Amino acid sequence: MKDRYDIIVVGAGPAGSTTAKTAASRGLDVLMIEKRQQIGDPVRCAEGVNKEYIRNFVRPDPAWISAEVKGSRIYAPNGKMVEMGEELSGVEVGYVLERKVFDRALAMEAAHAGAQVMVKTRASGLLTNNGYVTGIIAQHMGKSYDIKCDIVIGADGVESKIGRWAGIDTTIKPGGLCSCMQYLITDIDVDPDFCEFYLGNGIAPTGYIWVFPKGKNEANVGIGISGFLPKNQTVNDLLDDFVKKKYPKGKIIELIYGGVPACGTIERTVSNGLILVGDAARQSDPLTGGGIFNSIWAGDMAGKVAVKAIKSSDVSAEFLQEYERKWRAEIGKNIDTSLIVKNRFLTLSDDDMNTLADSLENMDLKTVSLLGLVWTLFKTNKKLLWDLRSIFKDIKEIKGVDFDDIENID
Ligand SMILES: Cc1cc2nc3c(=O)[nH]c(=O)nc-3n(C[C@H](O)[C@H](O)[C@H](O)COP(=O)(O)OP(=O)(O)OC[C@H]3O[C@@H](n4cnc5c(N)ncnc54)[C@H](O)[C@@H]3O)c2cc1C
Repeated sequence: MKDRYDIIVVGAGPAGSTTAKTAASRGLDVLMIEKRQQIGDPVRCAEGVNKEYIRNFVRPDPAWISAEVKGSRIYAPNGKMVEMGEELSGVEVGYVLERKVFDRALAMEAAHAGAQVMVKTRASGLLTNNGYVTGIIAQHMGKSYDIKCDIVIGADGVESKIGRWAGIDTTIKPGGLCSCMQYLITDIDVDPDFCEFYLGNGIAPTGYIWVFPKGKNEANVGIGISGFLPKNQTVNDLLDDFVKKKYPKGKIIELIYGGVPACGTIERTVSNGLILVGDAARQSDPLTGGGIFNSIWAGDMAGKVAVKAIKSSDVSAEFLQEYERKWRAEIGKNIDTSLIVKNRFLTLSDDDMNTLADSLENMDLKTVSLLGLVWTLFKTNKKLLWDLRSIFKDIKEIKGVDFDDIENID
């Protein structure tokens, strides 16, 4: 380890490794540190990701693909199933990954591009000078090191401290964190072609249960809850009830707990000499909890802007605004929309969800476009869609639809 680099990336998840790879492959001197001794382990993820999106950044490798699915099946509280093609299924559906291998592969790509990777190395504070972040304090094998750099990248996940240390408010307010629990279950019959989602206030109030296949006989079965449960109810109880009924003979071989930022975008993700990326920047999708793809996408943007800043000898927050503008224009827009949908979803009764599922009954959702889906929901559920009106402001091109109509609903 040297005492100075161009950039130091804290955290070797998808966000950190992508940033490190992008920056190192463009000639920067990069150090990426990871507090755990093994990258990607333990996994805190259902491991679903949209394959078309991910292919823009990573070449698929069978070593980290557990299953390739065709789409998703969403079960309404009354059991009615809506089947959707991959395109409509969001950022979580396409590949079910083997993240222990995937995260390590991304870190190896960063290393191959020239980044130095150090595991069992934890950032415990920031170095600052004249209002600028100028490096980190790192703990490695019982020793403390001051390591300097031009830009620190905070890619330290949901538990991020880097932003807070730099004076950025990354607080997740109550209700903004999705609490998750997941089993890896084996010896069960699952359809390897579909990710399944189960909705209903009895099953998973303010959230959903997922079944993501990892082959024919194995699946990640988990629950994510965004709101507050009554005192006598826990996520463990809810998931156990579901598993007992659905997979009575299944064998649980892994258990994980974890949180996903489902709070929407935060006010600022850059400061002088500092960029936040991935879950540390609260860039996961508030509705689905999917964060892998956004982390990779934002990591790529962060790496490119860091290169520009260092080449221009300007790492001020003003210069780094380019990253802020870019990710907000792309990822941020999707997050804002998802947050509106999530907040509306949280108010739905089981009857509302059943009505929505009914309205989609005769549609072929394997081939329909997103706008076609929106139109069907619009026609049948005007009241339910009232809160989504801000989304429609941008949609003007569906033939025969008078979007002003939605403004006239009582
Ligand atoms: C139960 C669960 C299910 C999920 N399912 C999905 C899914 O199916 N699809 C999907 O897209 N997303 C899913 N997510 C979200 C997804 O896992 C995250 O959005 C994604 O991992 C974020 O990537 P990241 O690189 O920002 O953070 P992380 O992957 O969390 O990586 C951050 C890294 O930083 C390290 N670190 C933290 N602090 C320090 C420090 N001080 N010094 C050094 N290293 C540090 C951590 O050890 C970690 O390795 C799920 C999350 C949970 C909890």
